[in-house]
Amino acid sequence: MNLPSAVRQIISRLEASGYPAYAVGGCVRDSLMGKLPHDWDICTAALPEEILEALETHSIIESGLKHGTVTVKVDGYLYEITTFRTDGDYKDRRHPESVTFVRSLNEDLARRDFTINAMAYWDEDGLTDLYGGQEDLQQQIIRCVGDPHARFGEDALRILRALRFASRLGFAIEPQTNQAIHDLKDSLSNISAERLCSELLQILDGDAVETVLLEYSDVLAVFLPELLPMIGFEQHSPHHCYDVWEHTVKVVAASPKGKIPRLAALFHDIGKPRCFTMDERGRGHFHGHPAISAEMTEKILRRLKLDHKTAQAVVRLIEYHDTRPEPDAKHVRRFLSKLGPDYYDLLRTLKIADVKGQNPSTAPEKLRYIQSVTDIVLKETSGRSAFRVSELAVGGKDLMTLGVPEGKSMGQLLQKLLQMVIDGEVENEHACLMQAAAACLAQGSSNGTDRK
Ligand code: ATP
Ligand code: MG
Repeated sequence: MNLPSAVRQIISRLEASGYPAYAVGGCVRDSLMGKLPHDWDICTAALPEEILEALETHSIIESGLKHGTVTVKVDGYLYEITTFRTDGDYKDRRHPESVTFVRSLNEDLARRDFTINAMAYWDEDGLTDLYGGQEDLQQQIIRCVGDPHARFGEDALRILRALRFASRLGFAIEPQTNQAIHDLKDSLSNISAERLCSELLQILDGDAVETVLLEYSDVLAVFLPELLPMIGFEQHSPHHCYDVWEHTVKVVAASPKGKIPRLAALFHDIGKPRCFTMDERGRGHFHGHPAISAEMTEKILRRLKLDHKTAQAVVRLIEYHDTRPEPDAKHVRRFLSKLGPDYYDLLRTLKIADVKGQNPSTAPEKLRYIQSVTDIVLKETSGRSAFRVSELAVGGKDLMTLGVPEGKSMGQLLQKLLQMVIDGEVENEHACLMQAAAACLAQGSSNGTDRK
């Protein structure tokens, strides 16, 4: 295994002071898989103050110290060094009552979650793999260290961590670990919203998300009960060949990675079961489902404490995911002004993913339509377009020269001009807009609403 020189330097320093130290956890797993680890964690027999002493020439970041973690900065990269520990009782199923520092690596490895995450490495000792982690890596298996029921009972977050690694690595979850996940899923209700949300996002971003969502929908439904009605909900529509949940899962997998696209995909049809009607020909309809889905999603994301800006984007995309403007410049401009042109690219990817989760025979035509709207969007958003008052080629100062006072009437006139530009009645060009403004004012005074 190829340790970065900074890691080798830190471990050598600790060793030289008499404290065994190892690279541990995710970085060992990723290196054995031939992947470049995104960070390197080090564990050691040294107590926090002993680490500080041994590494006194290094630059130390103080923030983790109260949790017994020393963070060292080398060449701009951060390395976390943690004293070997066992976790005490987990009375609230999440926070160990006490962390006990210990002097043996073996005890530290025993408290780790999965065999593939419980390996340590140092050049002089080679790989320490007490639980068959290497073999499980080869077999592509996620297996608890020790008794799965006990381990998930101590810390329910591990249930979602198992799904995270299954989704990211495409590994199967070992049968007993799997059984314990389903048996103990309800203990997820003890986990904080922020942690649930962070794990959910990582599950959604995995390459094997489709399999994980299908196999573990009951687990996610513990904190997302709104998903349950989607499962097995037949759509009775020639557009669809999957039930609402199967469709949703396909749309998630077909969406680009990232929190906004994947959350939008997960929730875009969540309101469908509530909106279902069947016509006399036996065809299913879901009138109004984007608005209902958007409303439900807003509540869910607030509950999960997702940051407001991301949540807002997700909700906006869901609200518009099924809106289909006529593919002509005027209708597309009107649509963009409602959506906000900045959202179009994300909306386009959601729409394409949505089509990929529908009846394949209907896809080519739908994709052609999306492309034709996209072509118009590209044309209309380049050059002199305006979708906001601030993008108009005239401003308040210009209108004041026509005698319009600052205040409400100014705002109304600017809005009117914007609407005219969007509707294609006037070019977004200074002279044209001034002329249009003058005409509006003349009309206004002849109607008795003069320039007050
Ligand atoms: P990632 O690549 O996602 O960072 P990772 O394995 O490094 O994966 P972390 O969440 O960074 O995951 O945790 C680092 C290590 O700490 C894990 O590999 C595991 O050994 C241990 N660990 C983290 N959380 C838990 C937990 N809840 N219970 C037991 N061990 C844990
Ligand atoms: Mg990590």
